[in-house]
Amino acid sequence: MDINFEKLPTPSYIVDERLLIKNLEILKDVMDRTGCRILLAQKAFSMYYLYPLIGKYLSGTTASSLFEAKLGYEEMKGREVHIYSPAYREEEFDEIMEICDHIVFNSFSQWDKFKKRIWNSGRKIECGLRINPEYSEIETDIYNPCFTGSRLGITLENFREDDLDGIDGLHFHTMCEQNSDVLERTLKVVDEKFGKYIRKMKWVNFGGGHHITRPDYDIETLIKCIMFIKEKYGVEVYLEPGEAVALNTGYLVARVLDIVNNGIDIAILDTSAACHMPDVIEMPYRPKIIGSGEPGEYPYTYRLGGMTCLAGDVIGDYSFKKPLKEGNVLVFTDMAIYTMVKNNTFNGVNLPSIAVYNETDGIKVLKQFGYEDFKCRLS
Ligand SMILES: *Cc1c(COP(=O)(O)O)cnc(C)c1O
Repeated sequence: MDINFEKLPTPSYIVDERLLIKNLEILKDVMDRTGCRILLAQKAFSMYYLYPLIGKYLSGTTASSLFEAKLGYEEMKGREVHIYSPAYREEEFDEIMEICDHIVFNSFSQWDKFKKRIWNSGRKIECGLRINPEYSEIETDIYNPCFTGSRLGITLENFREDDLDGIDGLHFHTMCEQNSDVLERTLKVVDEKFGKYIRKMKWVNFGGGHHITRPDYDIETLIKCIMFIKEKYGVEVYLEPGEAVALNTGYLVARVLDIVNNGIDIAILDTSAACHMPDVIEMPYRPKIIGSGEPGEYPYTYRLGGMTCLAGDVIGDYSFKKPLKEGNVLVFTDMAIYTMVKNNTFNGVNLPSIAVYNETDGIKVLKQFGYEDFKCRLS
């Protein structure tokens, strides 16, 4: 690893532009080989400093809210802006219509409520409906848009064949961190259930959850899936991955503040699972640390804990070749996604700085946070 993490203020998130470009090249290759369009779904990664770079490769951004849409519109200039939301607020809709090229609705009632405003807007906006094919292979309910009683998307039973005037596309999003074999099986169901409606459309959006940049991802099957729908129905295909864009491109760098013992050695860090990597607790998962192993794998095992008073603010147990000491720097991997977008200042813990690395400029610290960022959200 050629980045000198010791130089960073801690805690810091740092994204390595070289790794991001590697991912973007993989995605661009899929676009070039199929003619599909790929959008950055901002939910997982909204580091807008990098949007101009991302916009050189991808077709634009997608959003789930007015604010995300604005960020994509402002920071990835000249690229497509898409939005899907489970429901739109009337007072935000004018602004949404001003900046979005595609608006996807979650229900026929939302479509009926807003379609006249779109038709009267004078802007050329493509409209879509999110369908729920009631097929997914996600085992964790909170990440499964097709679980029983899901609010996300229109089921075949509720689909209104004669209310499609002005609808340009269909959108489905039923995957999470999955490979293209899942897409292939999902597409079969989408085709069987909704094929006769796709025939009337200009585009189909395959949503996100495609882990395209993961080393074991089968790109050939993805390409087959895209070409199958394009050729069978003569439609454009959109993909809107979030995670895959910034997967394995960033780190969270933290320092050891103290070592204590309670039956096990415990290192307290200047970061926090609850504040800076909430998915460690929510998912939950165990992040990797450069140079560390499973508990007991190396001679010195520690439980790593955060700075908050939450008893469960524990990152996990890790072993090291040498004993940890106050001031040691630890580097957590794959920390670009679902971190900056989800962090918080619970317990008054400061937010990590945000930095980038590239070969020309080395490390560049883009933003540091302070007391005002904590106070401004409270009253
Ligand atoms: C979350 C989400 C995405 C992106 O999903 P990833 O798992 O990050 O690829 C795309 N579209 C919609 C509608 C989403 O909710």
